Amino acid sequence: MVGRRMKSRRKWRTVVGILKELEDVCDTPVGRLRQVVDAMAVEMHAGLASEGGSKLKMLLTFVDDLPNGREKGTYYALHLGGTYFRILRVHLGGQRSYLDVQDVERHPIPSHLMNSTSEILFNFLAFSLERFIEKEGNESNSQGVKRELAFTFSFPVKHTSISSGVLIKWTKGFEISEMVGKDITECLQGALDRRGLDMHVAALVNDTVGALSLGYYHDPDTVVAVVFGTGSNACYLERTDAIIKCQGLLTTSGSMVINMEWGNFWSSHLPRTSYDIDLDAESSNANDMGFEKMISGMYLGDIVRRVILRMSQESDIFGLSSSTLSEPYVLRTNSVSAMHEDDTPELQEVARILKDLGVTDVPLKVRKLVVKICDVVTRRAGRLAAAGIAGILKKIGRDGSGGITSGRSRSELMTMQKRTVVAVEGGLYMNYTMFREYMEEALIEILGEEVSQYVVVKAMEDGSSIGSALLVASLQS
Ligand code: ADP
Ligand code: MG
Repeated sequence: MVGRRMKSRRKWRTVVGILKELEDVCDTPVGRLRQVVDAMAVEMHAGLASEGGSKLKMLLTFVDDLPNGREKGTYYALHLGGTYFRILRVHLGGQRSYLDVQDVERHPIPSHLMNSTSEILFNFLAFSLERFIEKEGNESNSQGVKRELAFTFSFPVKHTSISSGVLIKWTKGFEISEMVGKDITECLQGALDRRGLDMHVAALVNDTVGALSLGYYHDPDTVVAVVFGTGSNACYLERTDAIIKCQGLLTTSGSMVINMEWGNFWSSHLPRTSYDIDLDAESSNANDMGFEKMISGMYLGDIVRRVILRMSQESDIFGLSSSTLSEPYVLRTNSVSAMHEDDTPELQEVARILKDLGVTDVPLKVRKLVVKICDVVTRRAGRLAAAGIAGILKKIGRDGSGGITSGRSRSELMTMQKRTVVAVEGGLYMNYTMFREYMEEALIEILGEEVSQYVVVKAMEDGSSIGSALLVASLQS
């Protein structure tokens, strides 16, 4: 009896030790976050200086004018995300307040498409668009007028114009290798033409650029947009003369939106655990997208799963080891937030989700431990996300420091400070309250109360799709 109790105490100590180690490695005091901020700003410079100069690709989008609110007409958007695809139609009345999002469809991307062929993928998208249009009858489109479509595409693209570009690589578990290097717009337009659809792909838009467009449409102080969904990425408005790798780039506005592809950011200051290393090694894109793998919806659940799995292997606190727990990605980030935000006194939601993982009858103290794991992983994600945003603000001189080289006084800097809106969207940010709160809290910590008053983080529901349609509208007007 005494022996069993001692053994169980030892097991508990092992598990607490694993948790403690996780907490230590994931710790993100503000000093460390500032190092990440600096690294982000430095990498942005490097990525703008030369092609391949940084893990940050800092891609040209050929978007130099953002929607101003005077756009008119009916436009469509098709958005291929990492988990969902969306189709919508917007009607614009020529004034900011006359934005009417008329129909929004959201469906999970059938998983077999993610490693099928480009033909199968694009035929499926064309078929979905056809059904969407059939539904609307004759009400919204006068006969004979081609429908103008924005293709919101949330993977890295090398653009040659706003309406064309080739796929650089897949991310977020997609693996259709023959598509790498192909022109994305041609693929979609070809599939639409084969189906005889009267639709024109007028722009190929990164999802972050869509979110920026919607943000700007409502509020011209919006200069940065970030997505936290299945994956994570950011874009911002940059002066053309700062885009050194494209000498002589001329735009009427004097600026261009840069798609950072920040998911691929890396810095030795990022707090990396053995779980992150294993997750990366076993992923379909090893050594790639290191930042995304720490902060986005596709991966947070799997980091938590790996910690629970290790605890179950090194102790018996989760009972007999469950084979379900060994399945990659079986624990979704949706479940992580449900456990983290479980406010029932007995943590029944945690018990239910653990049961789905083949782990039954766990005592309350173990359920609390699981909540703690969710907290540690999500807190790190939210705080690193904030450091990323602060890095962009630093690069464009909106962090109150006056840019990378500044010798100005505090009061001088505060009078220079401009109101800056950061548009944010994506399922992780919109639905996981704790992630959002950790992010916003850390942003204030990094920037300080004073500067934070000038930085507004605005949620943009469906921003990437709606904003892409607005962008097409602004091209036509
Ligand atoms: P996509 O990435 O396909 O554009 P979303 O932006 O809607 O789609 O993001 C979907 C992702 O957001 C999900 O795969 C999941 O990782 C995350 N997510 C959605 N809802 C929640 C939630 N309630 N809690 C935590 N994460 C969530
Ligand atoms: Mg998305």
